[in-house]
Amino acid sequence: MIDDMLRTPEAIRDAERWTAHNYHPLPVVVSSAEGSWLTDVDGRRYLDCLAGYSALNFGHRHPTLIAAAHAQLDRLTLTSRAFVHDQFADFCRELAELCRKDLVLPMNTGAEAVETGIKVARKWGYQVKGVAPGQANIVVAEGNFHGRTTTIVSFSTDEDARADFGPFTPGFTVVPYGDLAALTAAVDENTVAVLLEPIQGEQGVVVPPEGYLPGVRRVCTERNVLFIADEIQSGLGRTGDTFACDHEGVTPDMYLLGKALGGGIVPVSAVAANADVLGVLRPGQHGSTFGGNPLACAVATEVVRLLATGEFQRRSTELGARLHAGLRSLVGRGLVAVRGRGLWAGLDIDPSLMSGREACERLAERGVLAKDTHGATIRLAPPLVITEEEIDHAVAQLAAVLAG
Ligand SMILES: *Cc1c(COP(=O)(O)O)cnc(C)c1O
Repeated sequence: MIDDMLRTPEAIRDAERWTAHNYHPLPVVVSSAEGSWLTDVDGRRYLDCLAGYSALNFGHRHPTLIAAAHAQLDRLTLTSRAFVHDQFADFCRELAELCRKDLVLPMNTGAEAVETGIKVARKWGYQVKGVAPGQANIVVAEGNFHGRTTTIVSFSTDEDARADFGPFTPGFTVVPYGDLAALTAAVDENTVAVLLEPIQGEQGVVVPPEGYLPGVRRVCTERNVLFIADEIQSGLGRTGDTFACDHEGVTPDMYLLGKALGGGIVPVSAVAANADVLGVLRPGQHGSTFGGNPLACAVATEVVRLLATGEFQRRSTELGARLHAGLRSLVGRGLVAVRGRGLWAGLDIDPSLMSGREACERLAERGVLAKDTHGATIRLAPPLVITEEEIDHAVAQLAAVLAG
């Protein structure tokens, strides 16, 4: 019994001893999970209200996805793209159909999908739009989060993400998020793309003003600029639609997908676009050893099929309404603001009460796991398989934490 109680601190010490300190995890050591629930090494259970930053939209170990992974592990796991394998075509076709695009390009991580989008947009700019060599620019938004590579942090506005990682990649213009006039003014004859998150997740689940995304779509069409929507966190059911852009009836030229596409099992990302855009790539110009591997395709095809039923989008809408109603009832009782859409919420805690980190630590003590972002903000993104009772439980625990 005493041994058991010591396991958590020991495991945390070991993890800190042998890793770079590029994360500051909550003091919980997880050993198993099912659906919306995690179990730690001491047998304590926690309701997962982060879902791997939306990589676990279908919950932990969704039976359909686990079965697909097991079956594929027993047959074929990797070929590289040097050879075609039998899982590839179905995955690409079904994902393209879900996105209503001609083509997809599979990669592994979200950052790779963003890098792919940037490379494709630049090549499209030179070859199709006719931008002068080396002059292409891409318009991005303040407060963005698109990943961690050197090019991507080059246009981050978060000093922690950028400081001491230069020299930076040129060719990006940063404008305030949600400000259509500023974006319109930033587009010039060398602009090849506007790259945006339709809802800024990392920034605190920031929803742009109504009409902003349709306005961006209109400007991009008028000025012959690609609209690239980074739906890596906002997409695949999280907001109550397949894509966050759907809420405003907007179709971007390119979707960047990741996180939930891998079913919480393997890293799978993808770019989806029409042939006049993705068709600019020729053999040898872009690729990835693991991108589109058989295991990834087998799992991700089942992810696409789960989404094609519409069930998860529906759950996100209905349960999201319940979550947001519960959270709104806490505004003025420890919360100062609640934002979001579907089963996705950014909460600003009254900073005189406690930090976001402290709130998450206290929530963890009460068996609910969430993640702070930027000071007094907490992000909630539970698995879309969460139940009404579990949502009420999470809101009740938050209320108790805020009541001190
Ligand atoms: C997580 C995320 C990324 C980066 O994905 P990784 O798999 O961590 O590289 C890019 N864009 C958005 C909007 C994200 O939320």
